[in-house]
Amino acid sequence: MLARILDGNALSAKLRAQLAERVLELKAGGVEPCLAVVLVGDNPASAVYVRNKVKACETAGLRSLKFDYPGDVSPAVVFERIAQLNADPAVHGILVQLPLPPQFDAEEVLAAINAEKDVDGFHAENVGALVQGNPRFIPCTPYGVMEMLKSENVTLRGAEAVVVGRSNIVGKPLALLLLAQGATVTICHSQTRDLAFHTRRADVLVAAVGRARMITGDMIKPGATVIDVGINRLADGKLCGDVDFDSAQKVAALITPVPGGVGPMTITMLLANTISAAERAA
Ligand code: NDP
Repeated sequence: MLARILDGNALSAKLRAQLAERVLELKAGGVEPCLAVVLVGDNPASAVYVRNKVKACETAGLRSLKFDYPGDVSPAVVFERIAQLNADPAVHGILVQLPLPPQFDAEEVLAAINAEKDVDGFHAENVGALVQGNPRFIPCTPYGVMEMLKSENVTLRGAEAVVVGRSNIVGKPLALLLLAQGATVTICHSQTRDLAFHTRRADVLVAAVGRARMITGDMIKPGATVIDVGINRLADGKLCGDVDFDSAQKVAALITPVPGGVGPMTITMLLANTISAAERAA
């Protein structure tokens, strides 16, 4: 039997309808939730991400502000903008699109954002809160993955969860969230000796690597839930995930597609974090 597909577009639409109600409530109280996005340089992928985020805000009834800077801008100019946005009570969320050009120290930039407005959840204070099991802003992609698992009532307590990838934006925070839900978590990475040994034990397997179709069906435990975070562009221009969907679907019980899986959830959770920030500020 083929695995059932966990449709990120459908779940996003459902969650966005719920978010729209929260936006209406805020507006009724005189608060217009607002996200400020800072983009530096002309990385085409970053430009697309920022455009999609701004568009999602508009559709959901949130105000968005976009600040574009050329790739050779002095960091002082960007820090000044961040300080101004930090101080502006009408701005609830601030996001600096990564990666940044080489003259920037990304950690320094993230640290400059007011932690109460850090809707990406990358500020050290918010990372610390997540580690302590008391998160304020959960990074959007891991947050989206957890919402997908919740929507399907996937059992996490006592489950073997394997996360492939240990980045600060996906793998590490996701491992912490799974741990908080009672899963026994294994984190794999580029130095892991026998990847398949670990992935075959996983009741819940998450791939967040950035290598096209590296997880094949023979690496998956029958009946597992497989979440594919990876986004890879193939030579023919098509997108694919880190999981070889066709072989994996024959073994897993539940699987996310690429595109149409985790991707749409990431932006939905950014909206959710911005709305939560506005509610807290109100
Ligand atoms: P990073 O490049 O920051 O991290 C990749 C991780 O994969 C690293 O921890 C690396 O290990 C590990 N890795 C690399 N090669 C292997 C291997 N052969 N076996 C096991 N692990 C390996 O990527 P991100 O976490 O930022 O993103 C991961 C993927 O998810 C990308 O495809 C990205 O485009 C996508 N993505 C999708 C999003 C969405 O909304 N759907 C949002 C964010 C990212 P090591 O640490 O040892 O180098």
